[in-house]
Amino acid sequence: MSKIFCVANQKGGVGKTTTTVNLSAGLAKLGQRVLLVDLDPQGNATMGAGINKAGLTASTYEVLLGSADVATARQRSEAGFDVLPSNRELAGAEVEMVELENRERRLKDALDAVDKEYDFVLIDCPPALSMLTLNGLCSAHGVIIPMQCEYYALEGLSDLVNTIKKVHANLNHDLKIIGLLRVMFDPRMTLSQQVSAQLEQHFGDKVFKTIIPRNVRLAEAPSYGVPGVTFDPSSKGAQAYIAFGAEMVERIKTM
Ligand code: ATP
Ligand code: MG
Repeated sequence: MSKIFCVANQKGGVGKTTTTVNLSAGLAKLGQRVLLVDLDPQGNATMGAGINKAGLTASTYEVLLGSADVATARQRSEAGFDVLPSNRELAGAEVEMVELENRERRLKDALDAVDKEYDFVLIDCPPALSMLTLNGLCSAHGVIIPMQCEYYALEGLSDLVNTIKKVHANLNHDLKIIGLLRVMFDPRMTLSQQVSAQLEQHFGDKVFKTIIPRNVRLAEAPSYGVPGVTFDPSSKGAQAYIAFGAEMVERIKTM
């Protein structure tokens, strides 16, 4: 049985994709069997994992609409995890799914077929609380919320938390917030320290112990089509994501 996690935050550019790709690579390094699901029409996780989004014969789009299964559409990344890839076509699924039965459970039903093949399924969500994100939330056991420790970090968090509560109540009783992940952290900034301390105060053990630093190697890696974790394994960013992988392996033991 796999554990399925959404990496979600409707704010743009907060580190969702960097987290999904590098946690996948970190977990693979630790010997875990991982499927990364790219649920964002931007296809950034697909490219970041080294898969050319322009040349896809099957993708998350076909899987959601039922014309391909996960086993056909997935591809193996060089970093040792599988990827269900996406590109712009996926934006159309949003509209086309409206006609379909069980439209918020399309991804869940598709993932059921590969449940035994993975320890972790990590879903990279788009920056919106859309039908695509809803499909992610309906599939998952938990949500990982990446956050920058800045003044506006908490703004919008209540919308996400309320959406998660509604999905939990009405569509997916398994769903819970696994944790808030502090990313792009700059320890030299007093504000980062303050917001980080505030998060710990308010959310207690819902804040992951691992903190991901701001690290240029993580930002450079996508242009080489590899996760930061494989691009420069000794960098501070890579080390942090490997540590986060280990924290997640521990966390699922108690789930
Ligand atoms: P979107 O909402 O558009 O999907 P996102 O939440 O997936 O964005 P990312 O694409 O992961 O965010 O990151 C946004 C930018 O910040 C990227 O240019 C990425 O390389 C950079 N970045 C992310 N994490 C870090 C980090 N720890 N250190 C330095 N740069 C980072
Ligand atoms: Mg993204």
